[in-house]
Amino acid sequence: MLYHSTANPGSRVSLKEAILRSLPADNGLYMPDIIHPLGDDFWREWRDLSFAEIGFRVASAFFGEDVPAAELREIVDGSLTFDAPLVQLAPGDFVLELFHGPTLAFKDFGARFMARLMGYLTRGDSRELTVLVATSGDTGGAVASAFYKVPGTGVIILFPKGKVSPLQEKQLTALGENITALEIDGSFDDCQRLVKSAFLDADLSERLNLTSANSINLARLVPQSFYYFHSSRMLPPGVEPVFVVPSGNFGNLTAGLLAKRLGLMVKKFVAATNRNDVVPGYLSTGLYQPRPSLATISNAMDVGAPSNFVRMLALFGNDWKSMAGDIDGMSFDDDRTRAAIREVQSLYEYQIDPHGAVGWLAARKWRAAHPGNATIVLETAHPAKFLEVMEAELGPGCVEIPERLACLGRRPSHAVPLGVEQQPFISWLRGQIR
Ligand SMILES: *Cc1c(COP(=O)(O)O)cnc(C)c1O
Repeated sequence: MLYHSTANPGSRVSLKEAILRSLPADNGLYMPDIIHPLGDDFWREWRDLSFAEIGFRVASAFFGEDVPAAELREIVDGSLTFDAPLVQLAPGDFVLELFHGPTLAFKDFGARFMARLMGYLTRGDSRELTVLVATSGDTGGAVASAFYKVPGTGVIILFPKGKVSPLQEKQLTALGENITALEIDGSFDDCQRLVKSAFLDADLSERLNLTSANSINLARLVPQSFYYFHSSRMLPPGVEPVFVVPSGNFGNLTAGLLAKRLGLMVKKFVAATNRNDVVPGYLSTGLYQPRPSLATISNAMDVGAPSNFVRMLALFGNDWKSMAGDIDGMSFDDDRTRAAIREVQSLYEYQIDPHGAVGWLAARKWRAAHPGNATIVLETAHPAKFLEVMEAELGPGCVEIPERLACLGRRPSHAVPLGVEQQPFISWLRGQIR
């Protein structure tokens, strides 16, 4: 299968190039040339397949022509070492827990799959691969964990100083070895811009053998579509779910759109955001107006210029009306999010993290307008990752901290401090060339 850039459908590249380059030189994003819907043989048995088998079938639809089945199965099995339980809070009100991986956020699905696929694609290459990634919170931790101590790879993570939670910061700064954290005195958008500047520097990009792990990488997106299938089949046959996706860069929601292109029946997608509501704004007006991001308590969604928006546009042929037909947009501020955390606790004795809480608010609003439907909120992170917010609302000790997070907290941190200017960053990167 070949892949093309959203900016230039005529220029085609191989899977290896699309995954390792991550970002086309023309500033678009890679998309598969063809999306083949899954066949009858899949739909006959999909409800009875294991999660790993669902993952393998879905991955095959995208990568099956380029990766031998046995290898692809190994990549999927190695990535899906944890479950994604569907929890019912009330009739029609479901939460899909995507935080059972090593770093307690849904990004483990994408990062683990990507690390393994990159490993397969570079097998036998002599040069070390440098993974460069900007994070607003959870991406960095997931990528660091997925590549930690993987031979032949180095990871450089940019995070905005003071804008990620202390535990998120630990996940970036406490591993060491082949993982380096850069603490940028700016916003997530500054981090993202710096990463882009490194890729656009062809010489540097070549000499460091740079690859990206942001949600712009197609290898992150595809595994995120697995759990749309997995959760749908847990509803009674005939019930078409409404997926409510707490969103920042819109990778998770785009993965849902891919699942629908493969044939999954989805009644509606709801794009749920905090005050960074560029996409809900577009869905209601047809005007796309990116702007600097605002800091909120659901910080992994503090994105003012969502990177996957061009993919969403491409999937709908740049047609606002058809996108707005499939996706509703809603946004909620921090006060409402805090109130939702308390409400979900008092109604259901369930601790929902600030990102999930934004989704839960959107789900409730959607069901109120469309009674009789089932909503599935993608619960994107474990509440322990946002302990300060949870304890402020629910009191100390409200959330149990999983041991895999607790043990990181006891390790020393290390990060390289840098400003937002491009030149010092590029010089620092040049210093990493070996
Ligand atoms: C990354 C992240 C999001 C946003 O996901 P996108 O794919 O960027 O839209 C939401 N919640 C949490 C907890 C995250 O880590």
